[in-house]
Amino acid sequence: FVDIRHAQKCFGELEVLKDISLQVEQQQIVAIIGPSGSGKSTLLRAINDLDPLTSGEVWLDGVQVNKLLPHAQYEKHINQVRQQIGMVFQHFNLFPHLTVRENITLAPKLLKGVSDDEANALAEQQLEHVGLIDRIDYHPSQLSGGQKQRVAIARALAMKPKLMLFDEATSALDPELVEEVNQVMKMLAEEAMTMIIVTHEMGFAESVCDRVLFMDGGVVVEEGAPEVVFHNPTQDRTKNFLRKHL
Ligand code: ATP
Ligand code: MG
Repeated sequence: FVDIRHAQKCFGELEVLKDISLQVEQQQIVAIIGPSGSGKSTLLRAINDLDPLTSGEVWLDGVQVNKLLPHAQYEKHINQVRQQIGMVFQHFNLFPHLTVRENITLAPKLLKGVSDDEANALAEQQLEHVGLIDRIDYHPSQLSGGQKQRVAIARALAMKPKLMLFDEATSALDPELVEEVNQVMKMLAEEAMTMIIVTHEMGFAESVCDRVLFMDGGVVVEEGAPEVVFHNPTQDRTKNFLRKHL
Protein backbone atom coordinates (compact mmCIF):
# COMPACT_ATOMS: atom_id res chain seq x y z
CA PHE A 1 0.00 0.00 0.00
CA VAL A 2 2.87 2.29 0.95
CA ASP A 3 6.02 1.22 -0.83
CA ILE A 4 9.27 3.08 -0.37
CA ARG A 5 12.01 1.70 -2.59
CA HIS A 6 15.68 2.46 -2.08
CA ALA A 7 15.09 5.90 -0.67
CA GLN A 8 18.15 8.09 -0.60
CA LYS A 9 18.13 11.69 0.55
CA CYS A 10 21.05 14.09 0.57
CA PHE A 11 21.16 17.61 1.91
CA GLY A 12 24.26 18.80 0.07
CA GLU A 13 27.09 16.53 1.19
CA LEU A 14 25.05 15.03 4.00
CA GLU A 15 23.39 11.70 3.21
CA VAL A 16 20.42 11.60 5.56
CA LEU A 17 18.62 8.56 4.17
CA LYS A 18 20.73 5.71 2.86
CA ASP A 19 18.90 3.17 0.75
CA ILE A 20 15.80 2.76 2.88
CA SER A 21 13.03 0.46 1.76
CA LEU A 22 9.77 0.18 3.63
CA GLN A 23 6.47 -1.44 2.81
CA VAL A 24 3.34 -0.80 4.81
CA GLU A 25 0.22 -2.83 4.15
CA GLN A 26 -3.23 -1.32 4.28
CA GLN A 27 -4.48 -1.06 7.89
CA GLN A 28 -1.00 -1.68 9.22
CA ILE A 29 0.49 0.56 11.87
CA VAL A 30 4.21 1.08 11.78
CA ALA A 31 6.25 2.91 14.39
CA ILE A 32 9.55 4.54 13.52
CA ILE A 33 11.93 5.05 16.42
CA GLY A 34 15.53 6.21 16.56
CA PRO A 35 17.86 8.88 17.88
CA SER A 36 17.64 12.55 17.00
CA GLY A 37 19.01 13.22 13.52
CA SER A 38 18.58 9.64 12.33
CA GLY A 39 16.31 10.71 9.47
CA LYS A 40 12.85 9.83 10.81
CA SER A 41 11.18 13.12 9.90
CA THR A 42 12.94 13.24 6.56
CA LEU A 43 11.62 9.80 5.71
CA LEU A 44 8.10 10.73 6.75
CA ARG A 45 8.23 13.96 4.75
CA ALA A 46 9.47 12.05 1.72
CA ILE A 47 6.23 10.09 1.68
CA ASN A 48 4.22 13.10 0.54
CA ASP A 49 7.20 14.60 -1.27
CA LEU A 50 7.60 17.53 1.13
CA ASP A 51 11.25 16.50 1.27
CA PRO A 52 11.75 15.06 -2.22
CA LEU A 53 14.12 12.10 -2.36
CA THR A 54 17.46 12.37 -4.09
CA SER A 55 16.87 8.92 -5.50
CA GLY A 56 14.43 6.09 -4.97
CA GLU A 57 10.69 5.79 -5.30
CA VAL A 58 7.66 6.32 -3.12
CA TRP A 59 4.41 4.62 -4.05
CA LEU A 60 1.00 5.01 -2.44
CA ASP A 61 -1.86 2.74 -3.41
CA GLY A 62 -0.38 1.95 -6.80
CA VAL A 63 0.58 5.52 -7.69
CA GLN A 64 4.15 6.79 -7.70
CA VAL A 65 4.19 9.86 -5.48
CA ASN A 66 7.57 11.26 -6.52
CA LYS A 67 7.35 10.79 -10.25
CA LEU A 68 9.02 13.24 -12.55
CA LEU A 69 6.48 15.41 -14.31
CA PRO A 70 6.44 18.81 -15.95
CA HIS A 71 5.81 21.46 -13.30
CA ALA A 72 2.10 22.08 -13.86
CA GLN A 73 1.33 18.38 -14.05
CA TYR A 74 3.40 17.69 -10.96
CA GLU A 75 1.49 20.32 -8.96
CA LYS A 76 -1.80 18.73 -9.86
CA HIS A 77 -0.51 15.24 -9.16
CA ILE A 78 1.04 16.08 -5.80
CA ASN A 79 -2.03 17.95 -4.59
CA GLN A 80 -4.05 14.88 -5.41
CA VAL A 81 -1.63 12.67 -3.49
CA ARG A 82 -1.42 14.99 -0.47
CA GLN A 83 -5.19 15.01 -0.13
CA GLN A 84 -4.93 11.30 0.58
CA ILE A 85 -2.32 11.64 3.31
CA GLY A 86 -3.07 13.19 6.68
CA MET A 87 -0.06 14.55 8.50
CA VAL A 88 0.19 15.57 12.14
CA PHE A 89 3.33 17.27 13.42
CA GLN A 90 4.82 18.01 16.79
CA HIS A 91 3.64 21.62 16.62
CA PHE A 92 -0.02 21.69 15.88
CA ASN A 93 0.13 23.98 12.84
CA LEU A 94 -3.44 25.15 13.27
CA PHE A 95 -4.24 28.49 11.68
CA PRO A 96 -4.37 30.82 14.70
CA HIS A 97 -6.75 33.35 13.14
CA LEU A 98 -9.33 30.72 12.24
CA THR A 99 -11.76 28.94 14.56
CA VAL A 100 -11.61 25.20 15.07
CA ARG A 101 -14.51 24.82 12.64
CA GLU A 102 -12.78 26.97 10.01
CA ASN A 103 -9.51 25.12 10.48
CA ILE A 104 -11.26 21.88 9.65
CA THR A 105 -13.54 23.04 6.85
CA LEU A 106 -10.87 24.98 4.95
CA ALA A 107 -9.15 22.15 3.08
CA PRO A 108 -12.28 20.17 2.16
CA LYS A 109 -13.85 23.34 0.76
CA LEU A 110 -10.73 24.60 -0.99
CA LEU A 111 -9.25 21.38 -2.29
CA LYS A 112 -12.27 19.15 -2.73
CA GLY A 113 -14.94 21.71 -3.53
CA VAL A 114 -17.12 20.44 -0.70
CA SER A 115 -20.12 22.69 0.03
CA ASP A 116 -20.33 24.77 3.24
CA ASP A 117 -22.99 22.48 4.68
CA GLU A 118 -21.08 19.32 3.90
CA ALA A 119 -17.85 20.80 5.24
CA ASN A 120 -19.62 21.78 8.46
CA ALA A 121 -21.05 18.31 8.80
CA LEU A 122 -17.56 16.86 8.31
CA ALA A 123 -16.12 19.18 10.96
CA GLU A 124 -18.85 18.26 13.42
CA GLN A 125 -18.44 14.58 12.74
CA GLN A 126 -14.66 14.65 13.19
CA LEU A 127 -14.86 16.80 16.32
CA GLU A 128 -17.34 14.35 17.84
CA HIS A 129 -14.86 11.68 16.97
CA VAL A 130 -12.00 13.30 18.90
CA GLY A 131 -14.29 14.48 21.70
CA LEU A 132 -14.14 18.22 21.03
CA ILE A 133 -17.49 19.13 19.54
CA ASP A 134 -18.02 21.68 22.33
CA ARG A 135 -14.93 23.59 21.16
CA ILE A 136 -16.03 23.99 17.56
CA ASP A 137 -16.22 27.80 17.67
CA TYR A 138 -13.09 28.36 19.76
CA HIS A 139 -9.83 29.71 18.42
CA PRO A 140 -6.66 27.60 18.79
CA SER A 141 -5.28 29.98 21.43
CA GLN A 142 -8.24 29.03 23.66
CA LEU A 143 -7.33 25.35 23.61
CA SER A 144 -4.84 23.24 25.55
CA GLY A 145 -1.97 21.60 23.69
CA GLY A 146 -3.71 18.24 23.77
CA GLN A 147 -6.92 19.75 22.44
CA LYS A 148 -5.03 21.53 19.66
CA GLN A 149 -3.43 18.28 18.65
CA ARG A 150 -6.81 16.53 18.63
CA VAL A 151 -8.15 19.30 16.40
CA ALA A 152 -5.14 18.83 14.12
CA ILE A 153 -6.02 15.14 13.89
CA ALA A 154 -9.70 15.93 13.24
CA ARG A 155 -8.64 18.34 10.51
CA ALA A 156 -6.52 15.68 8.84
CA LEU A 157 -9.34 13.12 9.12
CA ALA A 158 -11.86 15.47 7.52
CA MET A 159 -10.00 14.95 4.25
CA LYS A 160 -10.74 11.21 4.52
CA PRO A 161 -7.11 10.22 4.10
CA LYS A 162 -5.93 6.75 3.13
CA LEU A 163 -2.86 7.13 5.29
CA MET A 164 -2.01 9.06 8.43
CA LEU A 165 1.51 10.17 9.27
CA PHE A 166 2.35 11.29 12.79
CA ASP A 167 5.67 12.97 13.55
CA GLU A 168 6.15 13.06 17.31
CA ALA A 169 2.60 14.24 17.74
CA THR A 170 2.84 14.20 21.53
CA SER A 171 6.41 15.27 22.19
CA ALA A 172 5.62 18.98 22.60
CA LEU A 173 2.82 18.26 25.10
CA ASP A 174 2.87 18.44 28.86
CA PRO A 175 2.94 14.88 30.19
CA GLU A 176 -0.64 15.01 31.47
CA LEU A 177 -1.91 15.86 27.97
CA VAL A 178 -0.12 13.07 26.15
CA GLU A 179 -2.64 10.39 27.01
CA GLU A 180 -5.67 12.10 25.45
CA VAL A 181 -3.84 12.35 22.13
CA ASN A 182 -2.57 8.78 22.37
CA GLN A 183 -6.16 7.67 23.00
CA VAL A 184 -7.26 9.28 19.74
CA MET A 185 -4.44 7.54 17.87
CA LYS A 186 -5.40 4.23 19.48
CA MET A 187 -8.98 4.76 18.40
CA LEU A 188 -7.81 5.28 14.81
CA ALA A 189 -5.79 2.09 15.09
CA GLU A 190 -8.93 0.23 16.14
CA GLU A 191 -10.76 1.72 13.18
CA ALA A 192 -8.10 0.18 10.94
CA MET A 193 -6.51 3.39 9.70
CA THR A 194 -3.14 2.86 8.02
CA MET A 195 -0.58 4.81 10.02
CA ILE A 196 3.11 5.54 10.22
CA ILE A 197 4.01 6.95 13.60
CA VAL A 198 7.33 8.52 14.54
CA THR A 199 7.48 8.45 18.30
CA HIS A 200 9.74 8.58 21.32
CA GLU A 201 7.16 6.75 23.40
CA MET A 202 8.17 3.14 23.37
CA GLY A 203 5.25 1.97 25.50
CA PHE A 204 2.75 3.56 23.16
CA ALA A 205 4.52 2.17 20.10
CA GLU A 206 4.49 -1.28 21.59
CA SER A 207 0.81 -1.14 22.45
CA VAL A 208 -0.55 0.10 19.12
CA CYS A 209 1.89 -0.82 16.37
CA ASP A 210 2.13 -3.93 14.27
CA ARG A 211 5.72 -3.28 13.35
CA VAL A 212 8.61 -1.20 14.59
CA LEU A 213 11.48 0.23 12.60
CA PHE A 214 14.59 1.36 14.39
CA MET A 215 16.55 3.94 12.39
CA ASP A 216 20.02 5.23 13.08
CA GLY A 217 22.28 7.28 10.86
CA GLY A 218 19.91 7.17 7.91
CA VAL A 219 19.54 3.40 7.76
CA VAL A 220 16.99 0.94 9.12
CA VAL A 221 19.10 -0.91 11.65
CA GLU A 222 16.40 -3.30 12.75
CA GLU A 223 12.72 -3.90 12.16
CA GLY A 224 10.13 -6.38 13.24
CA ALA A 225 7.26 -7.06 15.60
CA PRO A 226 7.22 -4.77 18.68
CA GLU A 227 7.80 -7.64 21.11
CA VAL A 228 10.94 -8.62 19.17
CA VAL A 229 12.42 -5.16 18.55
CA PHE A 230 11.68 -3.92 22.07
CA HIS A 231 12.42 -7.06 24.06
CA ASN A 232 14.71 -9.16 21.89
CA PRO A 233 16.65 -6.82 19.62
CA THR A 234 19.52 -8.39 17.72
CA GLN A 235 21.56 -5.28 16.91
CA ASP A 236 23.85 -3.56 19.40
CA ARG A 237 22.74 -0.14 18.22
CA THR A 238 19.12 -1.02 18.96
CA LYS A 239 20.03 -2.38 22.37
CA ASN A 240 21.96 0.78 23.25
CA PHE A 241 19.13 3.03 22.13
CA LEU A 242 16.51 1.07 24.03
CA ARG A 243 18.62 1.00 27.17
CA LYS A 244 18.32 4.78 27.19
CA HIS A 245 14.66 5.01 26.20
CA LEU A 246 12.72 2.10 27.66
P1 ATP B 1 14.52 14.22 15.60
O1 ATP B 1 14.29 12.99 16.45
O2 ATP B 1 15.42 15.19 16.29
O3 ATP B 1 13.28 14.83 15.08
P2 ATP B 1 14.96 13.00 12.98
O4 ATP B 1 15.31 11.56 13.08
O5 ATP B 1 13.57 13.36 12.66
O6 ATP B 1 15.42 13.72 14.34
P3 ATP B 1 15.61 14.48 10.62
O7 ATP B 1 14.87 15.70 10.98
O8 ATP B 1 15.05 13.60 9.58
O9 ATP B 1 15.95 13.63 11.92
O10 ATP B 1 17.05 14.94 10.20
C1 ATP B 1 18.05 14.04 9.73
C2 ATP B 1 19.30 14.81 9.40
O11 ATP B 1 19.05 15.63 8.27
C3 ATP B 1 19.82 15.72 10.50
O12 ATP B 1 21.22 15.62 10.53
C4 ATP B 1 19.37 17.08 10.04
O13 ATP B 1 20.25 18.06 10.50
C5 ATP B 1 19.41 16.96 8.53
N1 ATP B 1 18.44 17.83 7.88
C6 ATP B 1 17.09 17.76 7.99
N2 ATP B 1 16.48 18.68 7.23
C7 ATP B 1 17.47 19.37 6.61
C8 ATP B 1 17.51 20.47 5.68
N3 ATP B 1 16.38 21.03 5.23
N4 ATP B 1 18.71 20.91 5.28
C9 ATP B 1 19.86 20.32 5.72
N5 ATP B 1 19.90 19.30 6.57
C10 ATP B 1 18.74 18.82 7.03
MG1 MG C 1 12.12 14.51 13.58
